[in-house]
Amino acid sequence: MIYARIKAFVERLAPELVCERCVTDRLGVSAERTLGVVLHELAAQSEFERQIGPCALCGESTQAIRCKGR
Ligand SMILES: [Zn+2]
Repeated sequence: MIYARIKAFVERLAPELVCERCVTDRLGVSAERTLGVVLHELAAQSEFERQIGPCALCGESTQAIRCKGR
């Protein structure tokens, strides 16, 4: 399930930010709309947050998400 894969991916990089494009690239998420929905759901949980910032993988400052937990 793509939701679980994205969640695990962001958690693995915690507490670093990862941008939406890197999530797409690394996980091969084909539908951008799907990614948007998943990120929206993750951001609704207290341990995740979306923010503009430098991505840990590509270094670009753009819309990104991170896991605050651990
Ligand atoms: Zn990136």
